[in-house]
Amino acid sequence: MATIFTKIINGDIPSYKIAENDQYYAFLDINPAAKGHTLVVPKLEVDYIFDLPPDVLGGLLQFAQPIARALDAAFRPVRTGIIVEGLEVPHAHVHLIPMYPDRKGFSLGKKESFTAEEMQAIAAAIRQKL
Ligand code: 5GP
Repeated sequence: MATIFTKIINGDIPSYKIAENDQYYAFLDINPAAKGHTLVVPKLEVDYIFDLPPDVLGGLLQFAQPIARALDAAFRPVRTGIIVEGLEVPHAHVHLIPMYPDRKGFSLGKKESFTAEEMQAIAAAIRQKL
């Protein structure tokens, strides 16, 4: 059965899309740990990130790099962190999470809430810096 991320990639489930190419898809996390929290996913459906073919694993980071830069440019965090957890959705992905000065680092356990309009505006602000 397709993972929830494959359904998002295929457009069967809506997402706040940030970027896409033939191999990767990036979109806002629906339960963000911080403003701009973005997930970067290979289209190849593999659960454990370190089971990805090496070129797909390397390409994931290369695809994520300009998105992290766009987060930096859009929201001016101290920096953008990258984290791999993968305990919830069995489809490899990395989290890009901007870290803001008012908080020391971030915690995936702490969630922030944004309206649909705010999420749309956040996604647009990131895309505009890509
Ligand atoms: P992990 O698998 O790395 O532990 O966490 C999966 C992440 O995917 C979580 O941060 C969760 O909020 C996010 N997530 C789960 N389902 C959806 C969804 O349907 N849409 C979006 N945009 N994010 C999701």
